[in-house]
Amino acid sequence: MLNISIWMSFSHTESWGCTMFLEGVIINISMLITGFYFISKLSKFPLDANISPLRQILIGLCNGLLCFILMKFSIPTFSHTLIDFRHIPLIIAACYIGAIPTMITAIMIAITRLTFDISPATITISTCYIFIGIILSIYSQHSQRSMRYRAIQFSTITIVMICVSYLLITKDLIQTLIFTGLITSYSTVGLLLAFMLLKDLKKQKTDMMAFQDQAQQDFLTRLLNKRMFEQTLRDMLNAEENIVLMLMDIDYFKQVNDKHGHDAGDTVLKEVAEILNTYTEYQQKNYRIGGEEFSAVFTDSPVLSVIRIAEKIRQQIASHPFVLPDGKVIHITISIGLSCSKNVAKNSISLFRRADRALYQAKSDGRNKVIYATDDA
Ligand code: GH3
Ligand code: MG
Ligand code: MG
Repeated sequence: MLNISIWMSFSHTESWGCTMFLEGVIINISMLITGFYFISKLSKFPLDANISPLRQILIGLCNGLLCFILMKFSIPTFSHTLIDFRHIPLIIAACYIGAIPTMITAIMIAITRLTFDISPATITISTCYIFIGIILSIYSQHSQRSMRYRAIQFSTITIVMICVSYLLITKDLIQTLIFTGLITSYSTVGLLLAFMLLKDLKKQKTDMMAFQDQAQQDFLTRLLNKRMFEQTLRDMLNAEENIVLMLMDIDYFKQVNDKHGHDAGDTVLKEVAEILNTYTEYQQKNYRIGGEEFSAVFTDSPVLSVIRIAEKIRQQIASHPFVLPDGKVIHITISIGLSCSKNVAKNSISLFRRADRALYQAKSDGRNKVIYATDDA
């Protein structure tokens, strides 16, 4: 009798049978899928290397726990050899995230395996998993290859190492070859299912993030939209924050459209947005709140410094050469109205009205001007 009964899990004395094997496979697959579903829920972002280190540790621990459960449900095969999916979460952690969860998973596999029983065979297995963890961690940090390439590379390394340690334990080449065939096909099924599930979950998350962005962004300039502007203004005023509101309106923009076409107008709008985005030195957000109307909300900024920024924006736009799609270069100007919430406007409507009145004043004063709404404006 070979001592492989301790190979993958705690002692199993049941004889190997086809039905039992299939039952075991189904249970393993269900646990793997359920486990990955919950693990992917640990981050609202797609599982990748950009996840915070703390979350990577949490994912590593949950991954290790999943491996432990998978080990508990190892399937008896030939000659008391047991197989399970414990190495799949390890490969997935290395493919999707990186060294932290991979190493934690490997250490947890090694330790929990030793809690079943300690013998030369289990020590070999645990050591093997630590080595797999180290190698996959190194490769996962440095490999820039596609997910498919990494999956094949990492699973090959893992399976080869598992089979080598199987050979070291059994010292039986024929049995090792049968085991290699079995674990390779078994792992392929597990990996394919895991990748299918994770690909779907990743797509769901990226789609959701894109929809959220679209709901908050203006599609042309990628600035925040009017809905976000109104919400931010309300939230900030409710939080009693001191706000300076800047409203901007391009002068005679209709003429740009009339003379050069709508596409040229769009190009100008995008470029104005880019210029505004360069002015983010203070706690500032830029919005497109109408056709050729923009706004910026400054929190905790002295009025004078915001007036200075407004003046810089006005000057930069006036001097900027706007290159149209047909190669022509035009110049435009912008009018700016400012208002401050301090001591006066405690609701978003009056703050907006005062900035709008200042903007109207800038227009009627000849355009290309910055006007700050004083208390009596
Ligand atoms: P004023 O100096 O008084 O602000 O004059 P104006 O021509 O800028 O203002 P008016 O309100 O008369 O015209 C705004 C124009 O902006 C009219 C419209 O065709 C154009 N517009 C609005 N949205 C878009 C857009 O998304 N793309 C383009 N290309 N044009 C737009
Ligand atoms: Mg306008
Ligand atoms: Mg205008």
